[in-house]
Amino acid sequence: MTVLTPERPISRTPRKPTGLFIPELVYFEPDALSYPKGERIMEWVRERGIPYRMTTSHNRITNLPGEGEMEQYKIAKRTLVVGVRKTLEFDQSKPSAEYAIPIATGCMGHCHYCYLQTTLGAKPYIRVYVNTGDIIAAAKRYIEERAPEITTFEAACTSDPLGIEHITGSLSELISFMAEEPLGRLRFVTKYQHVEPLLELAHNDHTRIRFSVNAGYVIRNFEPNTSRFEERIEAARQVARAGYPLGFIIAPIIWYDGWQEGYAELLAKLAQALPPEAGKDLTFELIQHRFTKTAKAVIEKRYPKTKLEMDIEKRKKKWGRWGQNKYVYQGEQQNALREFITERIFEHFPAGRIDYFT
Ligand code: SF4
Repeated sequence: MTVLTPERPISRTPRKPTGLFIPELVYFEPDALSYPKGERIMEWVRERGIPYRMTTSHNRITNLPGEGEMEQYKIAKRTLVVGVRKTLEFDQSKPSAEYAIPIATGCMGHCHYCYLQTTLGAKPYIRVYVNTGDIIAAAKRYIEERAPEITTFEAACTSDPLGIEHITGSLSELISFMAEEPLGRLRFVTKYQHVEPLLELAHNDHTRIRFSVNAGYVIRNFEPNTSRFEERIEAARQVARAGYPLGFIIAPIIWYDGWQEGYAELLAKLAQALPPEAGKDLTFELIQHRFTKTAKAVIEKRYPKTKLEMDIEKRKKKWGRWGQNKYVYQGEQQNALREFITERIFEHFPAGRIDYFT
């Protein structure tokens, strides 16, 4: 039994719910407007009076407003780019799925540790793709190639697709498609609470919705511009009631003064909040904090006051899949984190499953 010391007194002032993302500027590739989704997004943009421009390619936005790199970065995070996805070869997505299914690239969140900081480099704006029909057709080919094995697709490798679902509707299309595929499965993870459009869909248990959760310290200090913990949990309750397989990704797991209380409190709060049906098929994925030297340099430039600890001397080097060393916690710290969080999970969710710790 864990004795909990709340990390912070509960605030009594009700806060406004986290709103839907409304971009401040939108770019369209001309070709995107020949797709129904492109037309719909244009209509949505015009109805709201959002300024828009045309661009020759969603991969090369050269006239972003803003003085200097920092201001341009902030503006880019509020900029939507609507284009046609040309590359229909899917990347691998281990350990969570076989393939990454590309419906968007970029995110409006400002999580200090986010790996998109590095992978998107100078293109942090939010790209959405209107040719979901082509993307779904490609997914179908991947499923057929691997038959009779089940093929799982991860829709959140390069963005948080729920945060832009009210603009694109792409997740709903994928969920509906996958519901009809005996050998296809979908999963995505989110830090947003806007699940309403998904609740009435026929999903056939083929989509697992996971919420990214963390200790209060981590959410408060490193996850600006995302939904609050309570909002994510309320959304988790709703998707559990809608019968979706549910999961939680605890990432990045961070070693800080008081981490035991923080992670114990997290798991206790989850157990308290979830309806009993959520516990039947509940998964957890555990990812310790890691960074590369490139990421460290970018993060320190973009969030100069961050409290994120990135001391290479304190870390253990691990060879990364993309050819860059990454820095994870030392073996003893890793074990302590894994063991403690695993015990808390099974204490509260005896039927839960831990998919991996990495
Ligand atoms: S919500 Fe997810 S994708 Fe968006 S910035 Fe945060 S970690 Fe990155």
